[in-house]
Amino acid sequence: MTIVRVALPVPLPQVFDYAAADATEADVGRCVKVPFGRGDRNGLIVALGNTADVEPARIKTVHHIQREVPALPADWLALVDFVARYYHAPLGEVVALALPPGLRRADGVSDADEDPLLEIGEAGRRALADARRPSKALMLLQALAAEPGPWRRSVIRAMAGGEAVGDVLRRGWLTAIQDEGRVAALASGAQPELTAEQARAIEAIVGGGAGFRPWLLHGVTGSGKTEVYLRLAAHALAQGQQVLMLVPEIALTPQLEQRVAQRFAAANVVSLHSALADGARSRGFVQALTGRADIVLGTRLAVFAPLPRLGLILVDEEHDASYKQQEGVRYSARDVAVWRARQRGVPIVLGSATPSLETWYHARSERYALQTLSQRAVAATLPAVHCIDTRRLKLDEGLSPGLQAAIGQRLERGEQSLVFLNRRGYAPVLSCPSCGWVSRCPHCSANLVVHLADRRLRCHHCGCDGSIPHACPSCGNQDIQPFGRGTQRIEARLAERFPQARVLRVDRDAARTRAQWEKLLDTIAAGEADILVGTQMMAKGHDFPRLTLVGVIGADASLHAADFRAPERLFQQLMQVGGRAGRGTLPGTVLIQTEYPGHPLYQHLGRHDFDAFARMALQERRSAGFPPFTHQAMLRADAPALDDAVEFLRHARRLAEALAPEGLRLYDPVPMRMTRLARRERAQLLVEADQRGLLQAFLLSWIEMLYRQRTARELRWQIDVDPLEV
Ligand code: ADP
Ligand code: ZN
Ligand code: ZN
Repeated sequence: MTIVRVALPVPLPQVFDYAAADATEADVGRCVKVPFGRGDRNGLIVALGNTADVEPARIKTVHHIQREVPALPADWLALVDFVARYYHAPLGEVVALALPPGLRRADGVSDADEDPLLEIGEAGRRALADARRPSKALMLLQALAAEPGPWRRSVIRAMAGGEAVGDVLRRGWLTAIQDEGRVAALASGAQPELTAEQARAIEAIVGGGAGFRPWLLHGVTGSGKTEVYLRLAAHALAQGQQVLMLVPEIALTPQLEQRVAQRFAAANVVSLHSALADGARSRGFVQALTGRADIVLGTRLAVFAPLPRLGLILVDEEHDASYKQQEGVRYSARDVAVWRARQRGVPIVLGSATPSLETWYHARSERYALQTLSQRAVAATLPAVHCIDTRRLKLDEGLSPGLQAAIGQRLERGEQSLVFLNRRGYAPVLSCPSCGWVSRCPHCSANLVVHLADRRLRCHHCGCDGSIPHACPSCGNQDIQPFGRGTQRIEARLAERFPQARVLRVDRDAARTRAQWEKLLDTIAAGEADILVGTQMMAKGHDFPRLTLVGVIGADASLHAADFRAPERLFQQLMQVGGRAGRGTLPGTVLIQTEYPGHPLYQHLGRHDFDAFARMALQERRSAGFPPFTHQAMLRADAPALDDAVEFLRHARRLAEALAPEGLRLYDPVPMRMTRLARRERAQLLVEADQRGLLQAFLLSWIEMLYRQRTARELRWQIDVDPLEV
């Protein structure tokens, strides 16, 4: 009898043995359907087992091994195994996260090429030669012949009406190219001449050779990092290699997707992100697995794409917090990407205008090689940054006279302005001036935000909402007031103040779907908006050539936040959002309203001096003993009653004390800053060590013990290694 070891998506830290009469070594890395509990589960065969280890009577038999798609290779199994061990998550849960759901369900996935690469074949050339009767199909063929091919079928579809394309294909005028590798690298779009800095960076990275090497590409906003990625990708494709390109949020980056597809029209570019339909995600994954995909472009989960010909990894906006998954398996795709580059022996480029302090520190200590782009590629200069000291000013709904005047000037010149405020809704809370009532979320320790646009009170944490009351629910006072300011309120005030202007709000309420977001981007690009009011959604890498003014309001709150990462995030955000100004040929200006114009953070920002800011921030981290000078893990527990959560953590701490090696620091269990979320009370326990290895060894035995503890009913716990929020 053959035994297979199966990783199943259950919260248990082990693999499960099943009998499979016909299984062989070749089935390791294949999906299976097995009986589990009272139902069936889908899992992955991670090894063949030994009959001696199991009691024959208790062993169950697999239902089905999915053999239609190739097995996942050993290096992929090693990757998920590493993630399971490093983040202390059950292997089956990592597999479930890494595999597209459709594939895991063993639905049967076709690996046929859905979008073949076509060139003009023999029949097509004949048709062109003796073109007699002009038809739509012939006109399309002639248009294609006038261009350098080949083309993806999807690209031709986008060029012409479906009917003409159908005719061209039916007549066999176009034939599929079999050996796609030979043309994948042919850059098709126009390529700009490189700036001296870009050329130097590319030469250094390519010259660094094919082996593992981590690079930090530190380039100011608009310095042309994307062009560097594209050239490096072209180089890898020319060697017949695959390229993995990670971006923080694909919904925010249709522009990048388009640029990659345009540049490499002949390459098979596969997108992988969670917004894809199951079928599309499975197909893309299988294309990567079979080596047919040339470029895999995706969000954090794309780091799990199997890539047999992998030659290069690119991580754009490496500092972005969305690379870290905040639930379930709490992995950092950026860190996993670095591990993967080492495992596969390939270079990896981490790019950012505002690197994370961790990465910047690696570059300073020469663990990562550094390439810097200090100049913008097109616009001559970075925007001028000024603080508006609001201490003695009378503000009009949060807007200073200086900012209003600057917006007025842009309107006169036909340019765009952006008012940046990282708070959506109309006002952060509704309150009663006579009795002090405030709109609290019944399920969370948070306020309900006033959304005047659709007249709702809404919790931004659990999503619950209700209508806005006409009178104070506590004392009946009719004069209840929205307190504070969000994007909707600023939008309303600006529309009043500048009635001739077209004011457009850009936040998650205005762009719920990717289609809405793309429509907003088009509206802005077409110059159909004069004043934008936006949240951090506007901070990410987009080019708006007519945008010349960025006004920042409400930033001071982050200067004194309790979270030690708050200043880093604020600096990154302001540098990114400021970087939207003056991307075209017109110079840009950034105006920051603040009560602390002398604060070093704003001073460094004004000089565009990331290095000075990073040095200061790292110095603070070093003296306070924060990462990257220590390594942290957070044990979190949540339950309907806070006492249960805290009691579990106290117990966990006592277990830890018995195990803790010298050099490990255990903190006291404390309620989380936002204690209550969606009716559950949450607490946490921080564990810290100066060496990663020491922390990891401790976590291994500690978590093994935790799994064996009986816990209060409805208590849940999770471990977060390298937490971003502490
Ligand atoms: P970053 O990602 O560093 O913020 P981008 O790659 O978006 O910058 O480039 C900013 C702008 O400069 C884009 O419009 C891009 O097309 C343009 N650009 C980049 N490199 C060059 C170059 N070498 N010559 C001309 N334009 C360039
Ligand atoms: Zn009241
Ligand atoms: Zn809530």
